[in-house]
Amino acid sequence: MTDTVKYVLDESKLPKRWYNIMADLPSAPPAVLHPGTKQPVGPDDLAPLFPMALIAQEVSTEREIDIPEPVREIYRQWRPSPLYRARRLEKALQTPAKIYYKYEGVSPSGSHKPNTAVAQAFYNKEAGVKKITTETGAGQWGSSLAFAGALFGIEIKVYMVRVSYDQKPYRRALMETYGAKCVPSPSMETNSGRAILEKRKDHPGSLGIAISEAVEVAATHEDTKYALGSVLNHVLMHQTIVGQETMAQLEMAGDYPDVLIGCTGGGSNFAGLVFPFLGAQLRGGKKVRVVAVEPSACPSLTRGKYAYDFGDTAHLTPLVKMHTLGSTFTPPGFHAGGLRYHGMAPLVSFCKELGLLEAVAYHQRPCFDAGVQFARVEGILPAPEANHAIRAAIDEALRCKAEGRSRVIVFNLSGHGHFDMQAYLDYFANKLLDQDYDQQELATALAGLPSVAKAA
Ligand SMILES: *Cc1c(COP(=O)(O)O)cnc(C)c1O
Repeated sequence: MTDTVKYVLDESKLPKRWYNIMADLPSAPPAVLHPGTKQPVGPDDLAPLFPMALIAQEVSTEREIDIPEPVREIYRQWRPSPLYRARRLEKALQTPAKIYYKYEGVSPSGSHKPNTAVAQAFYNKEAGVKKITTETGAGQWGSSLAFAGALFGIEIKVYMVRVSYDQKPYRRALMETYGAKCVPSPSMETNSGRAILEKRKDHPGSLGIAISEAVEVAATHEDTKYALGSVLNHVLMHQTIVGQETMAQLEMAGDYPDVLIGCTGGGSNFAGLVFPFLGAQLRGGKKVRVVAVEPSACPSLTRGKYAYDFGDTAHLTPLVKMHTLGSTFTPPGFHAGGLRYHGMAPLVSFCKELGLLEAVAYHQRPCFDAGVQFARVEGILPAPEANHAIRAAIDEALRCKAEGRSRVIVFNLSGHGHFDMQAYLDYFANKLLDQDYDQQELATALAGLPSVAKAA
């Protein structure tokens, strides 16, 4: 038995291509529909929002897509990221299971999100785009795109959910340090924002509203495009470097996962870890159990409906088929800001329909219990989102102990929590509530799902 706890890949092993699971799925996922006509969208419909190279990736069925060298050059600053064997956690749990975690907190902004932010900024720069708009909740995505925009000389404008803008000034300060402009949403700058503020002046905002504002600005300005930090096919694809590296690192360790675990907000860090393994399985390789972990307060995969829905509140985005709580659903307050989205990535949703993965939901307090336990043995302070994955990994390891059998458990530690210390303070002060979503609110939001003809 080796005492190695850290598996470091040589720079020369940095993946050269992103992996596209579309090539290996047994059937094609449902089409993306135009919000007005409800007919399948073509590349031209998306052109006001995204550069053509990203639209091509969004609909591509090629198994592998070359990562441009300038993008790999930037990845090299923190990639390949380390894979750790959590020996001290295993010992604390007295489990026969082997626990590994891939650590994405080593990036400049502290999460997996720069993996796609850098790629998206590159393709926008290539297309001559001067300005990119986006939304952010807690600020992880906004700060990642701000970092990428700074590297490529693109102006970044971030619509930040107002309640986070007011309560979480440090992420905003990071965005501004990178040179981005940050506006609290809903704002008076857009029709979508003004319409909301007319009804309620002190509206706290939501991701769905912030997306509407960012999309509206991109759609109405020639030199401006929009970027999304999760959910879309190309975003999930950019994250697959995480799983590809993990595969190579587990090979160094002489192991293959029995169980893969990731937290799911829009689904990108989860898909980034698991899609390369699911692809290998779909091509006849070893079967692996795949577990998506979501918050009980915003449970799209476990309680949502698999249906066509809008990505935003003002209904400006195309319709995608996904597990959704309804585009008007507002989750109760909880601390994993990155997990507050009403829908799940269409590709992750489709894989769930195909039976390729399972989903569980946890309340936030047991997740923080797990995150604190993890920090005290492994030293890394996890993002509140990642605590969900840790909770599930620990529970799996405890099941192994109860059943007296070993398993190889691998989870994605999607980011560190250094900007989320208020959440930890609240946890220690016993102020974290385990709220359930409002049943009535969910019923109303689901009743408002758009109707789409069967043929679509
Ligand atoms: C944004 C974020 C998430 C949730 O987004 P996904 O697209 O589901 O990965 C999870 N963890 C961290 C650290 C994040 O910043």
